[in-house]
Amino acid sequence: MPELPEVEVVKRSLERKILHLAIKKVTINDGNLRYKINKKEILNLIGRKFIEIKRRSKFLIFKLNKDFHMLVHLGMTGKFFYIDRKKKKFKTSFYYDLNYKKDQKHDRVIFYFSNDQKLIYNDIRKFGFIKFVKKKKFLENIHLRNLGPEPLEKKYNFLYLKKYMNGRKRNVKNTLMDQRCVSGLGNIYVNEILFFSGINPKRKVKNLNDSEISRIIKNTKKILKNSIKLGGSSIKDFYSDDGKKGEFQQLFAVYGRKGEICSNTDCKKKISKIVISNRASFYCRRCQK
Ligand SMILES: [Zn+2]
Repeated sequence: MPELPEVEVVKRSLERKILHLAIKKVTINDGNLRYKINKKEILNLIGRKFIEIKRRSKFLIFKLNKDFHMLVHLGMTGKFFYIDRKKKKFKTSFYYDLNYKKDQKHDRVIFYFSNDQKLIYNDIRKFGFIKFVKKKKFLENIHLRNLGPEPLEKKYNFLYLKKYMNGRKRNVKNTLMDQRCVSGLGNIYVNEILFFSGINPKRKVKNLNDSEISRIIKNTKKILKNSIKLGGSSIKDFYSDDGKKGEFQQLFAVYGRKGEICSNTDCKKKISKIVISNRASFYCRRCQK
């Protein structure tokens, strides 16, 4: 599932390709996403242009001219493809590979620009969504109004997190996954952050000491920045059909690595997998206390 770094790379990729192009046509192959796409509203896009693309948490905000915003969440398997004027297909982030044979049947919405350029919203499991919001009402939007701070902003710091965690009985894994505490993290990055911070995912947050809280902040910023950088550079020219598969998984130290040897120097323990609130947690029993 795409988390903050993957969505940020989508944003940066699309900024380079689709801004200020007039939208000529939109077709819906299947609008039954997490919320059914409103056909009337999507027709409002015709004649407009995307003038800015922003990211908040795991949401993409496409700003259009004439006070109109399109809000997109990629859910579990949502992805955007860009087709250029020569019909060449490009990926827009690093969490998936292109599959020319299979992709097409999951193309849900197609946005047509001038010169035959296209933006395709593809979603296998259809947990993502596309909604439209008037600019004025945007800040009150139900998906955005209760989000905690962006982890890469200064507001997300030691004092904030210490105060947030104070007295709470929840475990640290669920706390960091909670979008009200910090926005944009999901299962993959929380596993990674706790591994590099040496903290057992089951620890109650009220029992974390200052040094541990501080490590969480530091590692969150470091890991996210690093992933955005690596992910962005791996699709630099945005075009990937060289058949390289599964590189995404290689970016992580513990996520998806049950039974593999811990990557810390001098630790020969195998990575364990446990389930916390129905989500897989990967950690090293020796390095994470
Ligand atoms: Zn270890």
